[in-house]
Amino acid sequence: MSKTSSPTDMAAQRLWSNGWYKFAKRVDSPHFGARPEGLAIDLVVVHSISLPPGVYTGDAVVNFLTGQAQTIEHPYLDSIKDLKVSAHFFIRRQGELIQMVSCDDKAWHAGVSHYRGRDQCNDDSIGIELEGLEGQDFEPEQYETLSGLCASLLQHYPIEHLAGHEHIAPGRKKDPGEGFLWGSFQRSLGLGDAFFPDLKK
Ligand SMILES: [Zn+2]
Repeated sequence: MSKTSSPTDMAAQRLWSNGWYKFAKRVDSPHFGARPEGLAIDLVVVHSISLPPGVYTGDAVVNFLTGQAQTIEHPYLDSIKDLKVSAHFFIRRQGELIQMVSCDDKAWHAGVSHYRGRDQCNDDSIGIELEGLEGQDFEPEQYETLSGLCASLLQHYPIEHLAGHEHIAPGRKKDPGEGFLWGSFQRSLGLGDAFFPDLKK
């Protein structure tokens, strides 16, 4: 995948095995598909989710994203349990990192979407869900995990864009929302403005 084999590239390769990240707890989701041939995985999409909304205990999100939602009894969860969605990663409030789909496969997180001149962002993006409520704040531990993960993704995949669900599906989606600190996320990665949506910082 990489053109050169610098020590950094080789270190990055040891952290990844068939699209699975060594530092994530793996919980396989059946909700994935093959990526189309020949597309560069150049986009990271940041989301927020909590189930039921605002509840940060229990395993409802992981169960939902891995097709196990029917094991939980709750009116809201019951209303969404048949949706087949997923993400590559889920970052809990305390920073715990869970991976549900290999980054070499397509997770179903973006829906109808358009970004950097291309539609169907699921095809060539990596989806990361932060445990939280859109518009609300996220925990420092979540930024730490997100930043470490994205730094490794940047070494292993040809990532050129990092954006929120709200930026790839404007008008339809609002996550992660105003509480997400794009400026400090950008600074933690040391990336230029061209990697990020045009935001009023
Ligand atoms: Zn989302």
